[in-house]
Amino acid sequence: MAAEGNAKPAKKLSLKENYALLTRGLGWEPSYEKQEEIFRNVSFEGVKIHDWDKWEDPFRLTMDAYWKYQGEKERKLYAIVDAFQQNNGQFNVTDARYIAALKVFINGITELEYLSHRGFNMLAREFPGVGPRIAAQMQSLDELRHATTQIHTISQYAKYFTGMNEFPYQFDRVWYLSIPKSFFEDAVTSGPFEFIVAISFAFEYVLTNLAFMPWMSGAAFNGDMATVSFGFSAQSDEARHMTLGIEVIKFLLEQDPANVPLVQKWIDKWFWRGYRLLSLLATMMDYMLPKRVMAWNEAWEIYYEQNGGALFADLARYGIKPPKRAPETIAEKGHVAHQMWSVFYANRDAVGFQMWLPSEEEMAWMSEKYPDTFDQYYRPRYEYWKAQEAAGTPFKNTTLPQLCQVCQWPCLFTEAGDPTTLSLRETEYQGQTFHMCSDGCKDIFDDTPEKYVHAWLPVHQIYQGNCFLPGVDPTAPDFNPMYEALRYMGIKPGVDNGDFKGSADATNWEKWTSRPANIHEGAYTDAVRDTASPADTAARKAG
Ligand code: FE
Ligand code: ZN
Repeated sequence: MAAEGNAKPAKKLSLKENYALLTRGLGWEPSYEKQEEIFRNVSFEGVKIHDWDKWEDPFRLTMDAYWKYQGEKERKLYAIVDAFQQNNGQFNVTDARYIAALKVFINGITELEYLSHRGFNMLAREFPGVGPRIAAQMQSLDELRHATTQIHTISQYAKYFTGMNEFPYQFDRVWYLSIPKSFFEDAVTSGPFEFIVAISFAFEYVLTNLAFMPWMSGAAFNGDMATVSFGFSAQSDEARHMTLGIEVIKFLLEQDPANVPLVQKWIDKWFWRGYRLLSLLATMMDYMLPKRVMAWNEAWEIYYEQNGGALFADLARYGIKPPKRAPETIAEKGHVAHQMWSVFYANRDAVGFQMWLPSEEEMAWMSEKYPDTFDQYYRPRYEYWKAQEAAGTPFKNTTLPQLCQVCQWPCLFTEAGDPTTLSLRETEYQGQTFHMCSDGCKDIFDDTPEKYVHAWLPVHQIYQGNCFLPGVDPTAPDFNPMYEALRYMGIKPGVDNGDFKGSADATNWEKWTSRPANIHEGAYTDAVRDTASPADTAARKAG
């Protein structure tokens, strides 16, 4: 008999035991520092927590398992990205207009991943409970991974198309990118409980499918396998993020009834802010995808009205009501995409991607999808603008729009139920007048005006003369304010902006792929190919 039989190998811990040791073991009682000195931000919002151990984390992921899973996903993703690059996959998309969606993504969305990384890092430090701290730390790492994989994937497109290689610079300066920027900076500068309700619940749990499904199926429908791949790689983290979102809501509501009104206020605020942010997607779905997946109003019906309806019915037992301004979002669903596209078109010289008017086929699709609104309100406008283009007198806005003090969209929306009247709200605060786009934004401003009075509104800053590069002289005789403001924003005038037709992206696409840059407008012709050398394009831009 062998003697070594006496020493049993150490019992391998189950995932659950491992997780309990990992988390509960971190929650020691401090001996020489007061608890409230260590966790300074956890009390000022007024949330009452009696027992952090009641926090349930259904994933119970340990750090070694986390790194293993994520490492496997990275290896798969980068193998696909490699193959995509070697096969020039950027030319397999439907047409060159599709790239506009990627421009909005890299310039306006990827930075949100990074801000989210920072926000969850702060939560991982600020929560006294170990369960949520572990979950927040993992999400923080996820978000950093999302930002980097998106940058790596889209970099291939940036080598061939305009408007994508100044993304961190543009994010801090471009007027419409202040919409996502201000959204996330509002969240990151909130207390830890407001942040987690805003991002994990209102954004990730209630609204994220609305962002993910159309974007990823849009990419798949339009042949963009690179975006599909980073999307799915991120989406597998999303299940954990959404669970965190619903978990935090139930935890807060079950800990103390005094938390209910606070949670309700944050749901109302962040649902509205998230909705205003995500309606940027409406233009992507209805206008930028050459092959459409579904219309914005259909997506809103499925992902908010049906799914959100079921969710809020479930939360009613805690005394939680559906978001206060949900009825406005339903009333607007037939309008927002068309109103936003009109504003981008009219201001296309100040936008970092190129614009076009929808083709006859596309307008027929919109008439079918929006039977109550498109033919009555928006088709006549597009037909008028098309006639003006044909006559050689295209319509352009020569002034910049008034921005909402809260969401920072131009005040372009109309009154719910009255689509020919612009929706404008005002609040007097300390002798000044502040402007809002809607009741939803006015609610938010009026609740905490101090947080919004100093908002850096790009259009207002341009008009105050604060948006020129060093050395630019606004009193010089040849000073061109629009040109200089674009340079300040990181938009190359005459290259990144303006009309899609005749743009560098459109002419290069036809030259490089022998396929039409706009599948709905005129077939590719030899004449186009023969004249579209980069030098010709540059000359046309200059002249
Ligand atoms: Fe993310
Ligand atoms: Zn607003």
